[in-house]
Amino acid sequence: MKKKSKDIKSFVENILLGRRSIYCQININQLGELMMKLINHFIEEKAMKFPECSKLIERSFFGLCPKCGILIRGMDLAIASTLKEQTDNDNDAMTLLMEGPREIRLLAEGKCANPTCTEKKIEVHWEYMKG
Ligand SMILES: [Zn+2]
Repeated sequence: MKKKSKDIKSFVENILLGRRSIYCQININQLGELMMKLINHFIEEKAMKFPECSKLIERSFFGLCPKCGILIRGMDLAIASTLKEQTDNDNDAMTLLMEGPREIRLLAEGKCANPTCTEKKIEVHWEYMKG
């Protein structure tokens, strides 16, 4: 059975320890914190370059709404979390976000990518896929 991590810290630690299949439930507005931790660890501890890192995230990482079941690609989670960080004091990023795909905008606002769903949490899954 797939192992569930209790929090972001142990989720990221388990991925770095090489666990191939793990998931964690977080608040959607914690996505930024999670992505930052994950990417920083890959770059600093695994000496990965950014493009390699984003390919790994695209292949092995995805989000799943525990309520409506909508599936969100790893890259969309990364984009949503990056935009969220930038929009706090950057109007250009805000414009980009408002004009971008609705799913990503909703996630950046801490909401489910499905506009009819009210869930505020998301399951983040790591299923390691070799490149
Ligand atoms: Zn949902």
